[in-house]
Amino acid sequence: MASDLEIARAATLRPIGEIAARAGIPEAALIPYGKYKAKVDFGFLAGQAAQREGKLVLVTGINPTAAGEGKTTTTVGLGDALNALGTKTMICLREPSLGPCFGVKGGATGGGYAQVLPMEDINLHFTGDFHAITSANNLLAAMIDNHIYWGNSLGLDERRITWRRGMDMNDRALRATVTSLGGVANGFPREDGFDITVASEVMAIFCLATDLEDLQARLGRIIVGTTREGVPVTARDLKADGAMAALLRDALAPNLVQTIEGSPALVHGGPFANIAHGCNSVMATKLGLSLADVVVTEAGFGADLGAEKFLDIKCRSAGLSPGACVVVATVRALKMHGGVAKAALGTEDVAALRRGMVNLARHVENMQKFGLPVVVALNAFTSDTPAEIAAVQEAMAALGTEAVHCTHWADGGRGAADLARAVLRRLEAGEARFAPLYPDSLPLAEKIRTVAREVYRASDVQIPSAIAARLRRFEEQGFAHVPVCIAKTQYSFSADPTALGAPTGHVLPVRDVRLSAGAGFVVAICGEIMTMPGLPRRPAAESIGLNAEGGIEGLF
Ligand code: ADP
Ligand code: MG
Repeated sequence: MASDLEIARAATLRPIGEIAARAGIPEAALIPYGKYKAKVDFGFLAGQAAQREGKLVLVTGINPTAAGEGKTTTTVGLGDALNALGTKTMICLREPSLGPCFGVKGGATGGGYAQVLPMEDINLHFTGDFHAITSANNLLAAMIDNHIYWGNSLGLDERRITWRRGMDMNDRALRATVTSLGGVANGFPREDGFDITVASEVMAIFCLATDLEDLQARLGRIIVGTTREGVPVTARDLKADGAMAALLRDALAPNLVQTIEGSPALVHGGPFANIAHGCNSVMATKLGLSLADVVVTEAGFGADLGAEKFLDIKCRSAGLSPGACVVVATVRALKMHGGVAKAALGTEDVAALRRGMVNLARHVENMQKFGLPVVVALNAFTSDTPAEIAAVQEAMAALGTEAVHCTHWADGGRGAADLARAVLRRLEAGEARFAPLYPDSLPLAEKIRTVAREVYRASDVQIPSAIAARLRRFEEQGFAHVPVCIAKTQYSFSADPTALGAPTGHVLPVRDVRLSAGAGFVVAICGEIMTMPGLPRRPAAESIGLNAEGGIEGLF
């Protein structure tokens, strides 16, 4: 089969105005970025707020291999299949980050015949949203050091500045830095560091904001550090919120693109549910719900991270209530959870697959705890055997859950028609009784413990006393009611990336906590996970380049 890039390049793109018309967006509401990409203007968005609401379908997955198990691919395939069945559907995806694009995982526009286009644009600079977010983040950083340089009238304690710089790149060299070296003219040296843009609070604010006014209010609430007396200093105190909002204005309008089969897709907001909350923007989801009968959206890596945050952070904050959940699994990842080495994942091994089913079963059970009806999408790889496929379906049927074998990667939307019908049955049955996992009123440490116990099935959490004291301090500062955003490895239910399957008895080690007052959550960093990733020994970047015609090669 051709590569993702070859398939993408061979597709015939329709002018974005045609796609918009299909979605119910008038030409006048489009701000075109070339022929095939457009932003949807705020005037139209405001008018849509009172429209009827479509049904929301969450696509999530099992704990993945490093390559990804096809959540984006399945989100696109399912959207195409629903549209082909005559259900007006909008696909809502996150924008790809350059970190994985040039690292291990590659781009994030789907794969095979289930892709959003133009894939090179979406994977690289797209409409510039991440550049705008990075600039807003770093404007605040510059204003902090500038404020100190010119006399520090707010009394910021240089040792207690928590705001970090940002860049959309995997660059371990920037994790911990010292800034303002070089003498009196360059300011006061202090320890600093960078997070990847997607893990920044500005990204979370961008994704959770409901309009421009809410965006600026949230930016103003960002706490950048404290005074010596421990009084928080905000972006508004530094008068940075207005300029940050100005930088983000155009970016906040959702981006419209198309799938290979011509379905409309809104690609807006950042990924990375391991270290961020990792959901597409509330603005795009709400726009989709106002236009379509069904919105299909993705939240990953595994459901333990992506779906939990989608439900406990995004849905809670935006008042959304999903009607069904699709859990994507692959035979090869199930075998990996059953103990098969990476190099042998292409060989039939029904026994290992049966052992690995514990991972899928636990994710399904977790989604049911949130009150969501679940369909399992078994994303077909050419190496899957009939015995392996049957083993997954039997095991899930025994648990009362339908597992649909789907071939959208090879066949496009028609390969996901059975999945689409299964999802529609769940939606029509109206079985969803969504409720977040914990109430707002639970103390912050108890929220972390609840997620660890109920979702990760840890026996407990380990919160060092200094960290517990910081959580209490956040509560005293008026943030007791916010949800928690747990950063941990995506490879396991636990904080240990090598503990595959369905580990029990593990303890979740909380290493650091950060208050994101503007986003409205507390980040709990657990285990060895980093908020600035590094590149692997052989980064994908080494194989990317231009051909003689000036086209891009090597993206996947
Ligand atoms: P996720 O969103 O879960 O991280 P993606 O949908 O981005 O995963 O898919 C990851 C990679 O795997 C992509 O390069 C995609 O082309 C490839 N892929 C997805 N599904 C299949 C499949 N059924 N067969 C072969 N490759 C696939
Ligand atoms: Mg994805």
